[in-house]
Amino acid sequence: MTRPDPAPGAGLDAARFTERVRAAYGPDGRLALPPLTEWDIFPFEGDLLVKQLADPVLPEPPRHGENPATCDCRERADDSYLWTDEHWRLGGLAEPAGVPAYLLMPRAHHDLADLPDDLAAELGVLIVRLDRILSAVPGVGRVHVNKWGDGGAHLHVWFIARPAGVLQLRGSCLPDWLDVLPPLPADDWDMLAGHVAHAMAEYGGVAHR
Ligand SMILES: [Zn+2]
Repeated sequence: MTRPDPAPGAGLDAARFTERVRAAYGPDGRLALPPLTEWDIFPFEGDLLVKQLADPVLPEPPRHGENPATCDCRERADDSYLWTDEHWRLGGLAEPAGVPAYLLMPRAHHDLADLPDDLAAELGVLIVRLDRILSAVPGVGRVHVNKWGDGGAHLHVWFIARPAGVLQLRGSCLPDWLDVLPPLPADDWDMLAGHVAHAMAEYGGVAHR
């Protein structure tokens, strides 16, 4: 898999970046709070401070599964996922969370940037299909699709469903609410996971719930 060479002079320099940020500190030695903290969707209130930026760490520490030989994908059985097919596996979280959340992963050990074109094309179809399935669940207001990948090296795309009408869970703070909200009842969680697995299997692959 080839990666495009960067144009001369293009790029980010962590030391210069950090220096620039620190130069923007106010008299209290910190960046000012952004308007976000006043928005309805922000889960926290009270006296808040922006954290000071730590020194860059380069090279970065390896992510979980950075070495394919130690990645979970090698050992994990298909029936520990909700749904699988020849190239993809859909998992749930180990425990119920505050809102429905699922993870779509390629069966083979890839990150997004090294996903072969044929799998990249399948990923596009699967993202739309899962969004459609989850959006059709009664009471789901929106499905948020996210890829971060700073924790695990094996590509995993998040699908997080927001309850309709719960407007404070709109937008980019939903993952933060996920850490705050009490878990959904286990029966509700399992029933929804089973529905998603079977709805996916209607297009192919195997439901494991
Ligand atoms: Zn892997």
